[in-house]
Amino acid sequence: MLYKSTRSKVKNISFIQAVKMGLADDGGLLVPQYIPVVEENLSSLNFKELALYLMKMYIGDEIEENTLWRLIQKSYSSFDTEKIVPVVKKAGIYIAELFHGPTLAFKDIALQFLGNLFEYILQEEGKKMNILGATSGDTGSAAIEGIKGKKNMNIFILYPYGKVSPIQQKQMTTVKDKNVFCIAIKGSFDDCQYIVKKIFSDSEFKKKYMLGAVNSINWTRILAQIIYYFYAYFQISTEGSVYFSVPTGNFGNIFAGFIAKRMGLNIDKLILATNENDILSKFVNTGIYKKGKVVNTISPSMDIQIASNFERYLYYLFDEDGEKVRQLMDTFSKYGEIKIDKQRLQTVQVDFLSAKASETETIEEIRDFYRETGYILDPHTAVGVRVGRKLRDKEKPLICLATAHPAKFQKPVKESIGMFPPIPPSLQDIEKKKERFTVIDASIKKVKTFIEQHALR
Ligand SMILES: *Cc1c(COP(=O)(O)O)cnc(C)c1O
Repeated sequence: MLYKSTRSKVKNISFIQAVKMGLADDGGLLVPQYIPVVEENLSSLNFKELALYLMKMYIGDEIEENTLWRLIQKSYSSFDTEKIVPVVKKAGIYIAELFHGPTLAFKDIALQFLGNLFEYILQEEGKKMNILGATSGDTGSAAIEGIKGKKNMNIFILYPYGKVSPIQQKQMTTVKDKNVFCIAIKGSFDDCQYIVKKIFSDSEFKKKYMLGAVNSINWTRILAQIIYYFYAYFQISTEGSVYFSVPTGNFGNIFAGFIAKRMGLNIDKLILATNENDILSKFVNTGIYKKGKVVNTISPSMDIQIASNFERYLYYLFDEDGEKVRQLMDTFSKYGEIKIDKQRLQTVQVDFLSAKASETETIEEIRDFYRETGYILDPHTAVGVRVGRKLRDKEKPLICLATAHPAKFQKPVKESIGMFPPIPPSLQDIEKKKERFTVIDASIKKVKTFIEQHALR
């Protein structure tokens, strides 16, 4: 499979080149040349087998099947359940638990694989790489877990200082491996993401320091996330169409659902659930994508205004017209707003429904769901469940993606149900561990200097 950019200037690059490039050299995002359609019945495959089958469709013979299988085995052996993504039924809805990886959030599913994939590529090519990424909480620790201790790689993670949950911060900053650098930025997550984007767009710097991305702009992230849409669907044994509800921030998770739908998976609607940061929800309902101010909520991994994967969706919405996407993105960076016409809005609404859950509604949902079922939702998952219940079609199965373990968000859970969620063993001793991070101003130049001083060369 070859890859191309959403802004049309980068074309015909290989899968491995696409993985290494992260953000495309023309400022766009990389997408496959075409979206393959699944024609076989895959319902009897387990998670890893399904991963092999689906990934092969996007990788082709660039990586030998045996090697790919080894990478998949290695990546998912760090999960605490054989099923990798178990699906449970509670209160008439299905919950796909995506939080059984080492950092207890759904990002492990892609980042455990990406870490191993990078290590393999670098070994093959005898090269080195410096990973650079921004996180609103979960990506950072998941990326660090995926890359810590790996050969020929350093990792630099920017996060908004004081704006991630204490456990999220500790999950990043207490990792001892020497190839890990945590950078606390005095600013918002959007600042962090902006700095990273700017540094990647300096192609000279990028080349000199062999920068690689792990943000959800990396196609591999999307690829690995497609698997659990199929897997969850097969676990609920239905032949009919289903609804998926997805707590959304950067549009990475739900974009994988969109691709799964295009690959032929029988998804009726994707429910895009947001917290108070509802730029995407407004887009689905009005056709206006307008930047606002970031509001801090109890679901911090969704406190995002500019969704980095949204451009990928626009690309498909505008029939793979890269020139048009470039114009739209230029308009957006100039005026902070994009507006689509009625017809296109209808196209959006064929695939998506959307609403937001306020802070109060989220707290209520955790409480009510617990009372009803004894099952504790984390605040992100609660946003998805709340909005999913509101917008679902009662005749059709609803699968809510559970994106984090509740133990990662002690305070809001306690506020909802009156007690702290039980802490799994992997988090128990994190409190006592020593932290290691560097605080830096929200300045591109200062971050660059830090990288220059600590990068592998
Ligand atoms: C990252 C994250 C999200 C948002 O996913 P996107 O791919 O950014 O839309 C939701 N919940 C949790 C727990 C996350 O870590």
